[in-house]
Formats: sequence, structure tokens, C-alpha cells
Amino acid sequence: MMKDDNIATNLAAVLDRIADAAHNAGRSPQDVELVAVTKTQPETRVREAISAGATMIGENYIQESREKFDLLIDKAVSWHFIGHLQRNKAKYAVRIFDLIHSVDSIKLARQIDAQAQKTGKIQSVLVQVNISGESTKSGVAHDTAMTLIKDVAALPHLNLEGLMTMPPFFDAPERARPFFTTLRQLRDQAQSTLAIDLPHLSMGMTGDFEVAIQEGATLVRVGTAIFGERR
Ligand SMILES: *Cc1c(COP(=O)(O)O)cnc(C)c1O
Repeated sequence: MMKDDNIATNLAAVLDRIADAAHNAGRSPQDVELVAVTKTQPETRVREAISAGATMIGENYIQESREKFDLLIDKAVSWHFIGHLQRNKAKYAVRIFDLIHSVDSIKLARQIDAQAQKTGKIQSVLVQVNISGESTKSGVAHDTAMTLIKDVAALPHLNLEGLMTMPPFFDAPERARPFFTTLRQLRDQAQSTLAIDLPHLSMGMTGDFEVAIQEGATLVRVGTAIFGERR
């Protein structure tokens, strides 16, 4: 249980743990970036995290993001959409986000592509894969992921940068490992069969980011360890 409510202290501790995990895995700490997950956190607390050094902000809900984005327009941070994106909200997502982690269908991808074209943007995206097959999780099914990856990579106003996953919740982080391994293998396979470059693996949260880093995560999405339990 997170007791300390000091965002700066918590953030520093998470960055230390990321660096340690990278070193232990024989990777450079610079190759693993922290997305501070700020869903449900008020603007003042997001500001605190930014002042303490957070450079990437992860949000789950479009309406909440739009409000915070306007309030924090003075801050030079990158915005990451990590929630489930409805097609009719693609317009706002393209307006706000530097990276959309949660593309899970070709219909959504086409909608984002069309909105990006309108605004003259090349939108960076990740394909979210539902490795566990749990019905409560978003993401494309593992067995159709390769087709979606290929189709998304072909859209002219999207830049497909990699894959994202969210394993089931486990008390023991070791149990999440196979899901991370599978995502990395799918990425490697997509890179070689489709001859594309997919540098990013967005995987790992408060409970399991060290294991995810061992398995190749380049973006870890951490909320609770920085901000405490969400109410
Ligand atoms: C909320 C959320 C996180 C952060 O979870 P914590 O356990 O609070 O670190 C990461 N990824 C996604 C997709 C989320 O919805």
C-alpha cells in the first residue's frame, strides 16, 4: 500500500527502480521511458509531477484529457492516450495526443488517419494487443494482430511505432511475464515478416513494470506508484 503522498519523492523512486531494472536487464536506462498515468488526478497534482520531472503524461478519458490539456498548455510535456478510444472521439485524440497507445481495430485506425489528414498531422500510434483474451480488456486478439499491424502500418497519416498490452491483474508480477514475452515476440515477428520498424513496447504498470523492462518494455505506464491509490 502506498503511504507516501509526496509526488516528487514517489516519482524519483520510480525513476530509480526503472534505472535499476534496466541495468539488471543489461539495457540502457535511457531506453525505458516513464509515462506518468494521471487519470482521475486533478490538474494541480499533474503539475506537481511535471515540476518533479515527469515529461510524459498518460490519460485514459478524452473529456478529462481535454480539460487538463487546456489547463496545462503552458507545459512542454508529451501526451499519451492509453484508454479505450471510441471512433467518434478520434478527432480530439488527434488534437491532443503525441502517441495513441490503444489502436485496436482497423475502423478506429482509419478514423484516426482521416482526422490526422485533416489537420496535416502524422499521428503516432501503437496497436494494443489483448494477449490474455480476457473479454474485459481492450485490444486486438493475438491471432488477428498481425493483419491489423500490417493494415495500420499502411495508413498514410499514421506512424505505427510499436505495440501495447495490459496483462490480467496478478498479485505476483512474475505471472505477468509470459504476456510481456508474447508481446515482444509478436513485435519481433511483425518486424521481420512485414519489414517495418516497431521500436516501442508499451507494457508494465505499478505492479509489474520491472518484469516488463526485463522483457523489453520501452514505455512503462505508472500511476499508483507515483500518485498513490486512485479514489
Ligand atoms: C490506469 C492504467 C495504468 C496505470 O496503472 P497503475 O497500476 O496505477 O500504475 C497503466 N496503463 C493503463 C492502460 C491504465 O489504464
